[in-house]
Amino acid sequence: MKIECNTCGGQISTPDDSIVGELVGCKDCGVEYEIVSVNGNQIQLQAAESIKEDWGE
Ligand SMILES: [Zn+2]
Repeated sequence: MKIECNTCGGQISTPDDSIVGELVGCKDCGVEYEIVSVNGNQIQLQAAESIKEDWGE
């Protein structure tokens, strides 16, 4: 599966059997994302850094 990178607009490839909590990285800009939702062939990503920030508050 391919998802658009929110940071640079590049394509991120994810395995077909991706699961929530898996980390994927954008090859173009190096940002790491965590998969927060998998629904059929729709995947939602959240930047891993922003998740860590939430934990700190
Ligand atoms: Zn990117």
